[in-house]
Amino acid sequence: MSKIRSFKGGMHPEYDGKELTAGCSVVDAPLFEKYYVILAENAGRPPKPCVAKGDKVCKYQQIAEADGFVSAHLHAPVSGTVEGIVEVPGPMGGNVQAVVIASDGEERGEPPFECWENWQEKSGGELMTRIREAGIVGMGGAAFPSHVKLSVPPGKKVDTLIINGAECEPYLTADHRLMAELPRKIVIGAAIMGKIINVSNIVIGVEENKPDAIAALEAACAGTSVRVQVLAARYPQGAEKQLIYAVTGRSVPSGGLPFDAGCVVQNTGSAAAVYDAVLLGIPLIERVVTVSGEAVKRPGNFRLRIGTPVIEAVKLAGGITEEPGKLILGGPMMGFAQRSFDVPIAKNTSGVLLLPPGRALNFSSAPCIRCGRCVEVCPMKLTPCLLCAAIEGGRFDLALKGHVMDCLECGACAYVCPSRRPLVQQFRRAKSELRKKK
Ligand code: SF4
Ligand code: SF4
Repeated sequence: MSKIRSFKGGMHPEYDGKELTAGCSVVDAPLFEKYYVILAENAGRPPKPCVAKGDKVCKYQQIAEADGFVSAHLHAPVSGTVEGIVEVPGPMGGNVQAVVIASDGEERGEPPFECWENWQEKSGGELMTRIREAGIVGMGGAAFPSHVKLSVPPGKKVDTLIINGAECEPYLTADHRLMAELPRKIVIGAAIMGKIINVSNIVIGVEENKPDAIAALEAACAGTSVRVQVLAARYPQGAEKQLIYAVTGRSVPSGGLPFDAGCVVQNTGSAAAVYDAVLLGIPLIERVVTVSGEAVKRPGNFRLRIGTPVIEAVKLAGGITEEPGKLILGGPMMGFAQRSFDVPIAKNTSGVLLLPPGRALNFSSAPCIRCGRCVEVCPMKLTPCLLCAAIEGGRFDLALKGHVMDCLECGACAYVCPSRRPLVQQFRRAKSELRKKK
C-alpha cells in the first residue's frame, strides 16, 4: 500500500458517529406516494420545467431542461401524474419550486439512452454529451453540473483526475457503502471521465478509516489506469483544495480553481452516476443517503429517489427515538439545519441527520479567550479569531484582507473553539456582504 497522505491543519472529532451506519448495507427504498423534485437543486441556473399540471410522465422522462451551460436537466424518478409546480422548503433555507409527481405505482418507463458497453470506442465529446443529457451533478457538495467541471478552460492544462472518496464529515457513510458495494461502477465511471479530459493519472482518494472500501476499490482497479490513494482520516480531507494537496502535493492558489493546480475533482456518487448513464443508459434519479444520528431509531444507508420527502426517509429508518435537537441535511459540520421534515432529497443530499439536543453544536456569545486553537486547525491557514472580531466590529475590509473569501466554511474552527463562538456564521455573513459590494 502506498504511503498515507494528508494536508496541513484540520482535526479529527473525538466521536464521529460513523459506527452507527458504516456497517449498514445500502437498502433500496420502496415507492412513496409523492416526489418533490426541486428545480433549483444544481449550482448555476435552475432548469426550466417541460411538464405541466396534469401531465402523465414515465419514469426517467425529462421533466426540466437545463437553462444554459451551467445548469442540469431533471428527470422523473417515478411514473405518475404531475400535480403541479409548488413551493417547498429548500435544503439550503427559504422556499424553492419543485415539480410534484404522484406515483402511479406502475414504474412505467425505459432507460432513455442507448447502452454504451463499448464506451472506449466513443469520443470524449460523445461521452460528455451523455453526462450532460443524464443531468449529472457533483453529488457531494454544491451540485455543480459535472459536464461543467469536466470542461477544461482554454489555456489550462490538466493532468490528474481525483475521485473524492474521503467522506470526512462525521456520521456520513453513504459514499463509504457505495465504494464498498459497487466499486466497479466508480472505477469505470472514473475511467470514462478520465477519457473525456484526456488524463491517465486517475486517483480515488479514500480515508484510511474505510478499509473495506479501499480493498474493494483496489480489486476493481486491477487492469485499469485508475488507482487508490489512502488518505489520513482528518477533517476536512474531502474539501477540494485539501484533497488536491494530499493527493498531488500541489496547492490551489487563493481564489483559484482545481484547474489551476492541473486537477479535476469529482465525487464517488457522480462517478457511479456516469457509469449508469453511459453503460446502462439511465439518467440521475436516485442516490445513496445516510439517515443517522442518535435521535433515529434504526440508522442506515438507503437508496432514495430524488424528490423523496425527508419525512419518508426518517420513517424508513424507524422514526425518531426522542425529539431531535437538530435536523440537518448533509454532515454536522458543513450541512444545513432544516426547519421542516417536508424538505425533499436533492441530488447532493448525502445525509439526513437527527441529532439529540446534547449532540447538536450550539453557539454562545462567550468572549474569545485567545487560546489559538482555531488558528491551529484552520486548513486554509486563516486566523479565525481575528476575522470574527473584525466582522463583529463591522470591519469587512479587514476580513477581506485576512482572506475571509478563502474560508471553506468547514467549521473546524468552531468545533474546537472552547468559547463556542459562532465563527462560521460570521464568515458566511461577511462573504455575502463582500460579494454584494463587488
Ligand atoms: S476559518 Fe474557515 S476554513 Fe478555517 S477552519 Fe474556520 S471554517 Fe474552516
Ligand atoms: S478557538 Fe475560540 S476562543 Fe480560542 S482563539 Fe479561536 S475564537 Fe478565540
